[in-house]
Amino acid sequence: MTRPARADIDLGAFAHNLAVAISLAGTAKIVAVIKADAYGHGIRAVGRHIAARADALGVACMEEALALREAGIGGRILAMEGPLSRDEIFSASQYGVTLNIAAEHQLRWLEEAKLEKPVSCWLKVDSGMHRLGFSLTGLASIAQRMRRCAACTGPDVICTHFASADDECDANTMLQAERFFAATEDQSLPLSLANSAAVLRYPQYRRDWIRPGYMLTGNTPLNADHDGRLKPAMTLRSGVIALRDVPAGEGVGYGFTWRAPRRSRIATVAIGYGDGFPRSAPDGTPVLVKNQRAKLAGRVSMDMITVDVTDVIGVAVGNPVVLWGKGLSVNEVARHAGTIGYELLTGVTSRVPRHYI
Ligand SMILES: *Cc1c(COP(=O)(O)O)cnc(C)c1O
Repeated sequence: MTRPARADIDLGAFAHNLAVAISLAGTAKIVAVIKADAYGHGIRAVGRHIAARADALGVACMEEALALREAGIGGRILAMEGPLSRDEIFSASQYGVTLNIAAEHQLRWLEEAKLEKPVSCWLKVDSGMHRLGFSLTGLASIAQRMRRCAACTGPDVICTHFASADDECDANTMLQAERFFAATEDQSLPLSLANSAAVLRYPQYRRDWIRPGYMLTGNTPLNADHDGRLKPAMTLRSGVIALRDVPAGEGVGYGFTWRAPRRSRIATVAIGYGDGFPRSAPDGTPVLVKNQRAKLAGRVSMDMITVDVTDVIGVAVGNPVVLWGKGLSVNEVARHAGTIGYELLTGVTSRVPRHYI
């Protein structure tokens, strides 16, 4: 018997979710954001499957962009953190990667570079998040320097990023957008603002390029477990590897932190924090055993969890278990664990084989 822990990746679901994003885009083009190993789904497989359906693929850094090129993926790729060293200007030119230019030192590298082929560049501005981007006040002169710079085309697009587009209160997002539109008004360049949350909540901010990521995994970035239009692409699965009855009052797992309130049936499942199942998941976190809901009971170990299956009918060793995905939203598990679905999806470790379906 092989260890049953695995992540099934439904590439068709990724394509479906991208189609949903495209249907919401209106006339905007799409950067399908697949940074961080496509949010844990596998950047090469996902990139190959969706490259032709998106106008560009978005990644965080040049390493990720080059991984896509090495996988034989053509088309436009945007490295959203821009060059992190002078050398990366040259490899972006060589491999045809588009760079966000977000800071003075990056622009200086570009101005000092002698290239055979100019790099395609976007100009990134800070409309309020204060993480990356040029300040809005100097935008006109930065855009002018980029237009004069022989090493780059463009700026092709001016972009910014929202800090709280998922927030039910709109005020901060509207303020960022207003500042951004006011500062970019004179530039008559294409604009890009929207991540998944903004794609879903603010049609007025879709403009020329949208940049959805998380929604492509089939999960909603908003404060909800599901969006009925989306299909979860990853199902993290394992199986029951041991089963026992414990008398009332017995402790289960490290530290005996869970005690059986009654005579209880405990299933041991082969998944743990070594696989990326969060150790912060408390007692009561939902788990699907044979498609029925059961509750985590006791601490998450490195390789295993223990689940109270007293009320699940007919459990046996070898039965299938779903930790999240089809039938159990990763957002719901994340809420129990005090985190977000993004962190759980990107945290599935390399020990877990990905099976593409
Ligand atoms: C990660 C990221 C996105 C995608 O965000 P989601 O919330 O996953 O849709 C878009 N733009 C930038 C700059 C990002 O860093």
